Amino acid sequence: MSPEEFRRWGHRLIDWLADHQQRLPDLPVQPPTKPGAVRDMLPASPPEQPEPFEAVLADLDRVVAPNLTWWQHPRFFGYFPSNTLPAGVLGDLASTGLGVLGLSWQAAPALTEIEEVVADWFRQMAGLSSAWTGAIQDTASTATLVALLCARERATGYGLAGGGLQAEAAPLTVYASAGSHSSVEKGALLAGFGRDNLRLVALDAERAMRPDALAAAIAGDRAAGRRPCAIVAAVGGTATTSVDPLAPIAAIAAREGLWLHVDAAMAGSAMILPECRGMFDGIEGADSLVVNAHKWLGAPFDCSLYYVRDEPHLLRVMSTNPSYLRTAVDAEVRNLRDTGIPLGRRFRALKLWFLIREQGVSGLQARLRRDIANARALAAAVAATPGWQVVAPVPLQTVCARHDPGGLSDEARDAHTLAWAEALNRSGLAYVTPARIEDGWMVRVSIGAPATEAADVDALWSAMRRFAEAPA
Ligand code: PLP
Repeated sequence: MSPEEFRRWGHRLIDWLADHQQRLPDLPVQPPTKPGAVRDMLPASPPEQPEPFEAVLADLDRVVAPNLTWWQHPRFFGYFPSNTLPAGVLGDLASTGLGVLGLSWQAAPALTEIEEVVADWFRQMAGLSSAWTGAIQDTASTATLVALLCARERATGYGLAGGGLQAEAAPLTVYASAGSHSSVEKGALLAGFGRDNLRLVALDAERAMRPDALAAAIAGDRAAGRRPCAIVAAVGGTATTSVDPLAPIAAIAAREGLWLHVDAAMAGSAMILPECRGMFDGIEGADSLVVNAHKWLGAPFDCSLYYVRDEPHLLRVMSTNPSYLRTAVDAEVRNLRDTGIPLGRRFRALKLWFLIREQGVSGLQARLRRDIANARALAAAVAATPGWQVVAPVPLQTVCARHDPGGLSDEARDAHTLAWAEALNRSGLAYVTPARIEDGWMVRVSIGAPATEAADVDALWSAMRRFAEAPA
């Protein structure tokens, strides 16, 4: 493809995406696609001869668009917002188009320094002290794994350079809330702690980690000869956006000498709202923090901001220094490969840089405030309607609702919840995610797609009532 052809097809693609944004509200949020249907539309083997690019782009309409669940749809209320604002899309396009890799500062100086600057911009936006240093990881799952590796290496005095965990006399233990995201368990397993040494700490009535139960679990492990190593606390837990109380948890971590990692994957975006900072009281007592700019903030996936207070420790754990990567300026620069697992580094900072500049902090704040107000309004409507309950606090933009017509056994109520949520999703009118908490299934309404306005939330609420109160 020549530069002129690239220009022509590129313009066509941007036009297609802009048109798509405009027609999105009229599309079903979830397509009626059956498993295997997309595969059946595609040739089983690759084309031997080049195809006209026209045909490739035409398949966006024929194959791709009719078979996607639309995360950017104004009536997408599933999982969590994975917002892809247009400025971020352009940043990602620029990143891919430039085709550079940040293996070292020298391999891509602007990539490194823009990432340093935007990570520091977000630190300031979030009200974090200058003790924190950040870099961009792909996902929160990776950041949490990295945090647990840092915790392990601090506890073992850099055991990785010798016998590793296998040389430890006593098992190291990790503590997370019983409602923590599956990535915490996965990170603990991959970091070699072993499931037997992961403690899921009991929750209080608001589904937050109980500091007394945490302290008791640590004491129990010490008494049994194990070595407590790390705590992972969540602000904005996955099921209900529960908030683990960081201040008392940080006090325990300090007293016991444990690494404290804070998983604020979704909710961390709310740190840019001064009125939400109370949820993060105690954050300065943590050792590491992950915030997914690719969730509510609006940067296209993937873009996880990972902050640590002791960056030299992170670099020592992660550093590799093969001869071909060494440069004359290494002593003067940060080589960001040493902040995480992969060597290759995409220019992810561009999408965040474009986004923050195009929106301004005030634009980002206004959208988050809109979503929080919409969630409060929905929660009030649900709570005021007979037969409906809000089953968890609504600190941010997620409302957890249940319809209980009365007279149903727990099993029948669960089946009813799953049935109306499924019927609602199948209708294409809106998309929600059911989830199970201690007392059974409920439906999470996660508000915050960029185009979601109050009228879309009203439309969802009407559809929820229609499908739950008068199932077909
Ligand atoms: N932590 C929490 C609290 C989450 O809600 C999620 C959501 O998916 C994750 C971690 C995982 O995020 P990622 O897909 O960036 O690994």
